[in-house]
Amino acid sequence: MKSIPSDVENDAQTLPGPEGRPFLAAGVFLALLTAVLIATNVWSAWRAYDAAWSQASKTSRNLGHSVANQLDSVFSEVDRVLHTLGFILESSDMTPATLEALQPIMVTHVSRAEYLHGLFVYGPEGQWLVHTQPAQSRQANNSDRDYFIFHRENRSSRVLIGKPLRSRSTGDWIIPVSKRIDDAYGEFAGVLLATVRVDQILRLLNGFDIGENGAISLSLVDGTIVLRRPYAVEDLGRKLPNNPLLSAASSARTGMARLRSPIDGVKRLVVFEHLPNNPLFIAIALSEKEILSQWRDAAQVQLACLLLMVSVIGLSTRYVLRSMRLRGASDRALRTAHQQIVHTNSQLAHLVDHDGLTGILNRRAFDRRFEEILGQSRRYGRPVSLVLFDVDHFKAYNDHYGHLAGDECLRMVAAALSKAMRRPGDVLARYGGEEFVAILPDTAADGARAVANAAREEVARLALDHVASAEGIVTVSGGVAAATSAAADLTASAVIEQADQALYRAKKQGRNRVVVTGG
Ligand code: GH3
Ligand code: MG
Ligand code: MG
Repeated sequence: MKSIPSDVENDAQTLPGPEGRPFLAAGVFLALLTAVLIATNVWSAWRAYDAAWSQASKTSRNLGHSVANQLDSVFSEVDRVLHTLGFILESSDMTPATLEALQPIMVTHVSRAEYLHGLFVYGPEGQWLVHTQPAQSRQANNSDRDYFIFHRENRSSRVLIGKPLRSRSTGDWIIPVSKRIDDAYGEFAGVLLATVRVDQILRLLNGFDIGENGAISLSLVDGTIVLRRPYAVEDLGRKLPNNPLLSAASSARTGMARLRSPIDGVKRLVVFEHLPNNPLFIAIALSEKEILSQWRDAAQVQLACLLLMVSVIGLSTRYVLRSMRLRGASDRALRTAHQQIVHTNSQLAHLVDHDGLTGILNRRAFDRRFEEILGQSRRYGRPVSLVLFDVDHFKAYNDHYGHLAGDECLRMVAAALSKAMRRPGDVLARYGGEEFVAILPDTAADGARAVANAAREEVARLALDHVASAEGIVTVSGGVAAATSAAADLTASAVIEQADQALYRAKKQGRNRVVVTGG
């Protein structure tokens, strides 16, 4: 009897190892894709950041150079005027006639140079000797000014640029540029002063584009601010303590640094450059926020796109994995259904060929098998035997023990009979009721008798009580039809008939025995 596979359901529910691999592969692929996307975006944003900085550095340096050169030409012009006038004053002993003749020349210089606010000549006591201002103040005295004191105390004939002051004559903010005048004996004879207009220098500085939060300053080499844009009066003449820019500017002609302004706290990229011919330096500072504003805008757009793409990838990953999972589940359901159909089919096939009570082949299967075996026997000229078994006094057994006990008895008889079928080709079937049939291929009369008797003895060995039988136990009788080789006209029904007659004789002779015919 075929065994029914019992592990079909279990197989259908377990997830085989390789099914998880596509999930892992898809997950790894999408994770890699996301990582590459983020990496390339970060890299390009970094490159753009770098480019923004180097562009700003280049722009600042060029701007610094240009501002320094323009301011240098302003102060160099003032320097030339002072040297020219100084030469005239020193070579003429500063007589009243010379001073009178000098006044219109000084006015011409002032009118020609828009940066010049005024020109002044002071005597050794600080008294005003000649000047270009419209209102003449004879009583005015400038001996208290720093530049006057400096020139009186120092023999140096070099031009001095001072910190901004408010003009005594006009009240305007000016930058004093002064020079000592010596008499013929080299003694102090007075001071020649040019005042440079702060508003004009500011106008020049305003001509440069430094953004909304940029700054430009013009300072003396000691760090005193001469002028600063954005303009604030309180910055004029202010000296910044512990200024890193100043320490950098004291050791180099030009340089660059990233600093937080000590004046307004704004973080800036600062470039400084000394004026080529004057003791001044300029500093140009561009706000970091403005330098990076374009980059920041682009980076924000890039970040938004990146987030969008990453979320699209995330959502599609979820979708793909879900579909894969669903497909896996439907595949498994299909496989389970298929296995169940196969199982049901094999059960059906088993049911079609087997007897429901005893589990051995049924009459239908016997008919088919017997035709086949008979055919082979004819073809190869081989013997074949058929044994019909019938349980003795079975009606009485049923009557005495009941139908259910009768059924159980038939099951045990069938099992006992099958024990005697030793060859793989032997076939045992339930012929009907309490009758069984055995086909013994390649078996002649003697062999068939032996097998039939062995089967009969197996049943007797069960020793099932049967009070209504003369033996006291359940027994079977057997009728054997043996053919040395099946003749061409030997039909299945003829063989069965022959066996049936042998069985009849066995019953007649007292039951629990085997009668053989043929051979
Ligand atoms: P004998 O063959 O020795 O001449 O006597 P018998 O009593 O066996 O003969 P008979 O053919 O008259 O009885 C057969 C009985 O087997 C009739 C029926 O009640 C019983 N039988 C047939 N098929 C089944 C079955 O599937 N289950 C049970 N319990 N009894 C069955
Ligand atoms: Mg019978
Ligand atoms: Mg019987």
